[in-house]
Amino acid sequence: MIVMKFGGTSVESASAIERVAEIVKENVPCRPIVVVSAMRKTTNALLAMGRDAAEGKREAALDEMEALKNFHRREMYPVISPNDRYELNRILDEHFNELSDILKGLAALGELTPRSSDAIASFGERISSTIFAMALRARGIPGVHLDSRKLIVTDERFTQASPLYGQTFSRLAGAISSLDKHDVPVLGGFIAATENGVTSTLGRGGSDFTASIVGAAVDATEIQIWTDVDGMLTSDPSLVPDAHRVKTLSFAEASELAYFGARVLHPSTVLPAMRKGIPVRILNSRRPESPGTLIVAEPVPCSNILKCVAFKRQITVVNVHSTHMLMAHGFLHRIFEIFDRFETPVDMLATSEVSVSLTIDNPARLDAICDELRPFSQVSVENDQAIVCVVGENIRHTPGVAARVFGAIHDVNVRAISQGASLLNLSFVVAAADLPRAVRALHKEFFTELDPMVFD
Ligand code: ASP
Ligand code: MG
Repeated sequence: MIVMKFGGTSVESASAIERVAEIVKENVPCRPIVVVSAMRKTTNALLAMGRDAAEGKREAALDEMEALKNFHRREMYPVISPNDRYELNRILDEHFNELSDILKGLAALGELTPRSSDAIASFGERISSTIFAMALRARGIPGVHLDSRKLIVTDERFTQASPLYGQTFSRLAGAISSLDKHDVPVLGGFIAATENGVTSTLGRGGSDFTASIVGAAVDATEIQIWTDVDGMLTSDPSLVPDAHRVKTLSFAEASELAYFGARVLHPSTVLPAMRKGIPVRILNSRRPESPGTLIVAEPVPCSNILKCVAFKRQITVVNVHSTHMLMAHGFLHRIFEIFDRFETPVDMLATSEVSVSLTIDNPARLDAICDELRPFSQVSVENDQAIVCVVGENIRHTPGVAARVFGAIHDVNVRAISQGASLLNLSFVVAAADLPRAVRALHKEFFTELDPMVFD
């Protein structure tokens, strides 16, 4: 069995759905299990109408919902069999009636809780997966829709829920083994439910994670993430137009990169696959003939030191300076406890005896955090920063990598350097204005000659 996950752009329109249904058809001999995202922009549209409803803009929310329904009907009509049109309308009515009840309820309550946010966001995948199964049947493939909310069990951290693996694996394995072996199961990504059956989601971009969970549950031979790019590249082509495809990566390298290339692969995806040693392949649904990027346990020998120069824009650096830190214990704990309480993840960290620099990518609650840090430290905040991260298993085996990295960007002001314990990445902060120059210089330094087994 293989898992084939199709992202929002791969099912964004009638023609995209048709293309993807053909890809599934060609893979029927591999016994695919299909995981689909909501149609592109649907989740954003749903969450926007939820917010509007909660802010009292009831009519606006209901209008947006009508537009979304029309969009779904228009794009889905052509992909199903004419005999199923009545059924399609029934399914759309049923889902959108339920959604409109929730929106009206929110308008009355005036509050969008994480729990209702998940209820609203779930409609995108609930609808796309139901209709995709119909689209497969229209092509003679026995697509069977399975409701992920009955199979993937999570904790109650709505909008960011984590799977309870024991129950999830046994439900998934049970449901899939009870199907006929010719059936092609279709599940919505991203959506799940708590033990009490309340709808939850795995976080934005979580359909990749669903695919990996499903693959691990059934011991799939491969987990395919079909997207709209040719796989992982040596850098982002928006800054490095001559970036090359990386044919193969290790799980460890992919986990480091997922944070930076979140658009290509959701960071949680690697773990379930890695635990079971299931290869993950990133493929392009617009160019199915391209071999994509294969992520495996054992890194393939590579004569280049790096696999990728990744980066993340719009980073905020927080510098916490305190002479209390000198020889004191518990200082870092005190700082992290505050970030934790305000649910703000810290990504990168560099410390000296009297100061800590850390980076965050969501400054929404930074003012409150600074108010709590100030009584015992001096705090300064720098916006418009970026993290550059060079990744490669060979970093740990090669002396002098840092000298080459910083030599290549000797004219860029580098701050807050950090090397993870895995020793396969080196990250540092630069001003956003210096980012393009730094990334291009590093790419040139490390990718002028390429190992043909690993890059093309
Ligand atoms: N539809 C969800 C989102 O937009 C999940 C996904 O696409 O992976 O975040
Ligand atoms: Mg995605």
